[in-house]
Amino acid sequence: MKLLAVGTVAYDAIETPFGKTDKILGGAATYIGLAASKLGAEVNLVSVIGGDFKPEYIEVFHKNSIGIEGVKKIEDGKTFFWSGKYHIDMNNRDTLITELNVLENFEPKIPESQKNSEIVMLGNLHPAIQLSVLEQMTDKPKLVILDTMDFWMNTAWDSLLQIISKVDVLTVNDAEARQLSGEFSLVKAAKKIQSMGPKVVIIKKGEHGALLFNENKIFFAPALPLEDVFDPTGAGDTFAGGFAGYITQTADLSYENMKKAIIVGSALASFTVEKFGTEKLQELSSLEYENRLNEFKNLTEYNYSF
Ligand code: AMP
Repeated sequence: MKLLAVGTVAYDAIETPFGKTDKILGGAATYIGLAASKLGAEVNLVSVIGGDFKPEYIEVFHKNSIGIEGVKKIEDGKTFFWSGKYHIDMNNRDTLITELNVLENFEPKIPESQKNSEIVMLGNLHPAIQLSVLEQMTDKPKLVILDTMDFWMNTAWDSLLQIISKVDVLTVNDAEARQLSGEFSLVKAAKKIQSMGPKVVIIKKGEHGALLFNENKIFFAPALPLEDVFDPTGAGDTFAGGFAGYITQTADLSYENMKKAIIVGSALASFTVEKFGTEKLQELSSLEYENRLNEFKNLTEYNYSF
């Protein structure tokens, strides 16, 4: 199977209590692509960049075998820019700057050879763009996963509901699940979201792990308690890319496999937060990944009889 992922390819400037970066490589599609490629999944991105996008960052995609035929370069435009600041409580961040730049008039165009991708990951973007990607698919994808955020709930409610009604899996964080559903209980929130379209709802709870809802069943994957959290940027996208990448790579859409996929997503996200931006994900070795999966196993494994 192959994975098609749409989302931002961005410049991010990040400030945390541990330091500050200038414009570095970021964007939802970037994290999704890196996470999926680390799992050996075939992944192609659909996005847009400006003439200012550094060749060394293009090289990052090539080096990781991430397809960028669908990433359009607008020579006289500027790359999407986002800047955020984290305080001591790294669960919350302030967005300082969002410059849409080339994203403002972005009309995604999927290369012909990718219109039959079996798995589609609609990364965080305007819902109308997500919808346009879905409409270009010639073969109905086997699984469509949608990620979104409060920004689109506040600014594009109707088209957000439209795209939500067309997807199989929705990933949101706990605050977004509450906003989308109007329910405080995450169980009730997930049920309400399921009634809007997606059969499967994944609620990300940051350092408290992630919940997977499928029909009446609930599964929980923890986040690894880490000694050092350096920069949480991209954790949610890495999680989504790990989830989508694992399903693509194993070609197994069952609920049992989705349980594994959220553990894989959590494991990869735990690397992203250890360094600034995409740095840790880029240098990640397969041995480090295998070891971390074992740490997850040890964290939750119990075999007691009660
Ligand atoms: P995450 O920390 O996983 O929620 O995502 C962080 C990434 O989202 C950053 O690399 C940003 O470039 C990107 N981003 C921030 N705001 C937006 C937005 N409004 N639309 C799309 N991507 C965004």
